[in-house]
Amino acid sequence: MLNSEFSIQLKEIVGAQYVSDNQADRLAYSYDATPNFQQMPDAVVSPKNAEEVQQIVRLCAAYNVPIVPRGSGTNLCAGTCPAQGGLVVLFTRMNRLLEIDEENLTATVQPGLITEELIHQVEKKALFYPPDPSSMKISTLGGNINENSGGLRGLKYGVTRDYVLGLEVVLPNGDTIKTGGKLAKDVAGYDMTRLFVGSEGTLGIVTEATLKLLPLPETKQTMLCLYESLEDAATSVSAIIAERIIPATLEFMDQPTLEVVEDFAKIGLPTDVRAVLLIEQDGSPEAVARDMKKIADVCRRNGATRVNIATTNEEADALLTARRSALSALARLSPTTILEDATVPRSEMAKMVRAIEEIAKAYEVKICTFGHAGDGNLHPTCATDARNEEEMKRVEAAFQAIFEKAVSLGGTITGEHGVGMMKAPYLELKVKKEGIAAMKAIKQALDPGHLMNPDKIFAKAARKRVVIS
Ligand SMILES: Cc1cc2nc3c(=O)[nH]c(=O)nc-3n(C[C@H](O)[C@H](O)[C@H](O)COP(=O)(O)OP(=O)(O)OC[C@H]3O[C@@H](n4cnc5c(N)ncnc54)[C@H](O)[C@@H]3O)c2cc1C
Repeated sequence: MLNSEFSIQLKEIVGAQYVSDNQADRLAYSYDATPNFQQMPDAVVSPKNAEEVQQIVRLCAAYNVPIVPRGSGTNLCAGTCPAQGGLVVLFTRMNRLLEIDEENLTATVQPGLITEELIHQVEKKALFYPPDPSSMKISTLGGNINENSGGLRGLKYGVTRDYVLGLEVVLPNGDTIKTGGKLAKDVAGYDMTRLFVGSEGTLGIVTEATLKLLPLPETKQTMLCLYESLEDAATSVSAIIAERIIPATLEFMDQPTLEVVEDFAKIGLPTDVRAVLLIEQDGSPEAVARDMKKIADVCRRNGATRVNIATTNEEADALLTARRSALSALARLSPTTILEDATVPRSEMAKMVRAIEEIAKAYEVKICTFGHAGDGNLHPTCATDARNEEEMKRVEAAFQAIFEKAVSLGGTITGEHGVGMMKAPYLELKVKKEGIAAMKAIKQALDPGHLMNPDKIFAKAARKRVVIS
């Protein structure tokens, strides 16, 4: 429960109607898209601007109240679960596209703007904002920035980090800083913009962002390559890149994922093959035609049994939408869906795909795999039931084995979903003790009271490492 003096002052800052501590609202913000980390906040607040955010942060510092900044809560790492209660800060009233600057090719946004809304708005001006997480219909830019989210276009265009030019951030002590700006170049001091991107709401609250835009590509084409062997599909990925072609999209789905996605999307996806690659190229019509022909040849040489090129934009959109719906479709399979994010260098994709299959067999768990193959970023997804304790132990052990394998192949425990509470126990696998110590030093310097999204990134006892004898 919040101190009553705190509550009075909070209502004075934002207006009483924008603070709620009723049970229903607290329950609604007690969890996010990650299973099994539910924790009640004490209250929820919706500020209307950066000044209100600043006053809220100062008030929380004075009363020692934890703050959980929250976009749409679609993160998959328990990044917005209020581990220590406190105040959930929403940005639903800070959701404006403030400016599209056509001379500097930038967009300035508030953190609550929905990703797809930005993409649509800039496309109307023949401009392009490439980061397109599959959740883009509901995710916010504040969330994307704080998770450094990737998307289907990451292979050619990079991830959110590559498009953040400047930020306005309210620090845990209540100071507001501005980093970067509408600048192609800026080396004035430490690169604070990069520090805040991917910081998972643990270092401050982003109240405004300046994002880089590109000219909209002239045209694009999409194809689906079908495989009878998982490894052929995985090998095709590195073969395409080795051919010096960088497709805009290069996605992988295995047979169990295809079956579930087709059942959900009903667009005629093949369900009788072992795997598919969904490939898109964009650019000038000549370059796209040339690349698509080369890609089709490479895929056939590497074992593709069929190569289908989408003949209309609608067909292409349906394929991409189906891929984006993979998690939602898989979530229908069982009461609990755990989606992971192991990532390896592209050249190790085939080994990683094989390892996931073997690990699933060894631990007797159902794992469907899809992901951003071109980025080496796989989403092994386990359909399970959190109420079955014995099965959950096997699931945890399987994922631990997957992370260990990914790291041993030069990869990482998360390519785009972040650490949060979910992967905190595995962070050391990737960054080692010394890496964690350096990160903690940054956290301590900026947030000595540990009020900003506490218990994220650094392990408590959130998800225990499991040993099955
Ligand atoms: C179906 C589905 C598909 C997905 N596909 C992808 C994908 O393709 N690629 C990908 O990378 N991710 C994907 N995700 C994960 C998720 O959508 C992304 O991490 C997304 O960026 C989260 O946005 P959000 O608005 O929901 O943020 P939230 O989940 O609300 O928050 C994410 C993090 O950002 C912090 N935060 C939010 N706003 C602010 C702010 N203004 N200031 C400071 N901190 C803030 C939060 O504290 C939290 O740590 C998917 C999730 C789902 C459910």
